[in-house]
Amino acid sequence: MNCLFCQIVNKTIKATICFEDEQVLAFEDINPQAPHHVLIVPKEHISTLNELNESNKTIIGHMTWVGSQLAKSLEIEEKGYRLVMNCNKGAGQTVFHLHMHLLGGRTLHWPPG
Ligand code: AMP
Ligand code: ZN
Repeated sequence: MNCLFCQIVNKTIKATICFEDEQVLAFEDINPQAPHHVLIVPKEHISTLNELNESNKTIIGHMTWVGSQLAKSLEIEEKGYRLVMNCNKGAGQTVFHLHMHLLGGRTLHWPPG
């Protein structure tokens, strides 16, 4: 499949990997928007949040857990960090393989643009 993040999961495209288990891969964003910017993706190809269903929905809980653990290992958990998912073009999604952004290491403003 011609999906960038599937190719990163399959290791045919290189990325700086932060964490991996049987369900997810976490790697550094190539265009970081904060001192710490990690993407957490399911190994299964799911295009957007709209494709979640009864059989795959628990992946979101696991991605969130991994994000919170990575925040601790990066020592940004006390100061603060953001876990965010963009769904479809109007929300800024550019890669159509589900992913959660972990952003931290600077003051994050709200609401995002
Ligand atoms: P989104 O805009 O929510 O779809 O986020 C996609 C993210 O993927 C952006 O922050 C990009 O910088 C990032 N990205 C695109 N290509 C790569 C790549 N080859 N390796 C790591 N991150 C990437
Ligand atoms: Zn994919």
